[in-house]
Amino acid sequence: MIDKKTWDDAFNLAKAQVRHGNADYSDLRSVTEEIYKQMIDIKDVPDTYDVTPTSAQNKRLASSDSKFKHEVVNGKVRCAICGKLFKSISQNHLNTHENILRDDYMIKYGVNDKEMQGTIERHAKTGDDNSLTILSYVMKEYNLKRAEAKPFVIKQGFTDLVDLMAQAKEKGISALELLKEKVPVPKKKKE
Ligand SMILES: [Zn+2]
Repeated sequence: MIDKKTWDDAFNLAKAQVRHGNADYSDLRSVTEEIYKQMIDIKDVPDTYDVTPTSAQNKRLASSDSKFKHEVVNGKVRCAICGKLFKSISQNHLNTHENILRDDYMIKYGVNDKEMQGTIERHAKTGDDNSLTILSYVMKEYNLKRAEAKPFVIKQGFTDLVDLMAQAKEKGISALELLKEKVPVPKKKKE
């Protein structure tokens, strides 16, 4: 009879092996079995704690039979299964590929959560990471021309935009909020 908890532990360890490129996704089940057997043995002999699966010893790169590569192109992310570009790879999209789970996709192609999003999506969520975005905010809020925005930021005591962004991040506020603490936004001109 299978020890469910041990099996789950073995499965998690096997997934980690695949994630780290020590085993192929297609071997997930056999690696799990291997680890499981070792864990069961360990239960009998509690002094040995070598749970390294033998397949981890010949290190292989996580490979896939897909002709596409999971990659970011022009801020979008390419689905390694169909090769199409998206702002992010969603479960909805993966459902069109024989209902592969997002987690399984990530294991199979060796990508993390962040890499499931293109940079377009990431900047949309955390616009503060992009100095050009901040520059455009500053220009808009303070009614400045592009060439004026950077000297304006420096005048407020920052080395440059990146410095402003770093200081804002430290305070846990947006770059614009920090700037507004120094210089209130001028009243909008009537047009
Ligand atoms: Zn796809």
